Amino acid sequence: MLPVNSQRVADLIAGLAKFGRTEAGITRLAYSSTDKAAQMWLLKQIEYLDLEIREDVLGNLFLRKPGLDPALPPVACGSHLDTVIHGGAYDGMCGVVGALEAIHMLEDETLRRSIEVIVFRAEESSRFGYATIGSKLITGKATPDKFAHAAGKDGVTFADAVKEWGGNLEAYQKALLQPGAYKCFAEMHIEQGKVLEETKHQIGIVHNIAAPTRFKLHIHGMADHSGATPMGFRKDALVSAAKLILAVETAAIREKENGTVATVGVVEVDPGSINVVPGKVTLWVDLRGVDTESIQRTLKEIRQAVQGTARTDGITIEEEMLTSDSPVALDEALAAQSEAICREQRKSFLHMNSGAGHDAMHMPAVCPTTMLFIPCRGGISHNPAEFASNEDICAGIEVMAEILKREAK
Ligand SMILES: [Zn+2]
Repeated sequence: MLPVNSQRVADLIAGLAKFGRTEAGITRLAYSSTDKAAQMWLLKQIEYLDLEIREDVLGNLFLRKPGLDPALPPVACGSHLDTVIHGGAYDGMCGVVGALEAIHMLEDETLRRSIEVIVFRAEESSRFGYATIGSKLITGKATPDKFAHAAGKDGVTFADAVKEWGGNLEAYQKALLQPGAYKCFAEMHIEQGKVLEETKHQIGIVHNIAAPTRFKLHIHGMADHSGATPMGFRKDALVSAAKLILAVETAAIREKENGTVATVGVVEVDPGSINVVPGKVTLWVDLRGVDTESIQRTLKEIRQAVQGTARTDGITIEEEMLTSDSPVALDEALAAQSEAICREQRKSFLHMNSGAGHDAMHMPAVCPTTMLFIPCRGGISHNPAEFASNEDICAGIEVMAEILKREAK
């Protein structure tokens, strides 16, 4: 295997970062002309790899290094090139650049299976309000009717954006990956948290990807004059909401050993006036974890608190479920292989879960899937300050190259 070329990795990451860069960060929304320009530039830079290039009708890009036996399902790896609004240079890009560099490192190897780098379109929800659209659609985890009419700030719908890109959403079935289409899939990504940095580990071996359960609690009290309504005669919805915010926290803390987290991120107060006892409050709750039973226990406890508060405060509270996705378990055999590789390469590693969603969470529908995390400074992501060191990126690439080699043998 050839050594990793850290200069080339740094140049590719820095080169991609120029597309969509402003003072406020990098904005390269999915299917935008900037997204296209970045991809065209990248393809130009990697001409020396002589890969077979294919794009599906949704605009997902496939770059193949043919193996000796083209009939065998290829080994796949990859990530995404789009960013959030005012994002950074590493989320997604490390996985794409890393996969391409890993392919270069395998130039002197004779491999039976082809290796394919997938650049998934529209991983970020920043343009259309939905995340991982490209990977969701090709794995059959969703159908386009869900997104077709979703439009971003510019008013362009997802269907039109696909068309502008050169694809055809109506023909999306042509892009569907059948189970077994790949031998396996591996994605390298920055952690987007600070666990690896703080515990001083180079590689995170991901076992589960958390899924969000999101719901609103509509709390109906009674709006009254804040001066004329004595204490004890009130149905203050915000006071009840405050109890529930604490209950949400308590329920999640009880499950912290299982990695479950819960957040009230939005509080809407009606009428929101200093001289009125709040009559109506809506809380937006985001509950996540990797352990389905733990998520269910947390939800049950929150619901009990809701019922208890409604009873003791004499008010009504309605729950409005927004999404309830299941956490995804990645392949344990591939995780064990990554551990063995880290040991051989003398890299420190940590077994962990992903709190954030990734394209990799849909790939188990097609093939065994694994993820590697690399540290990012301060855990900062989706922010212009996002940073991963070249050394850490290259360490991840060395593990990735070895995974691809063993799987493609
Ligand atoms: Zn990402």
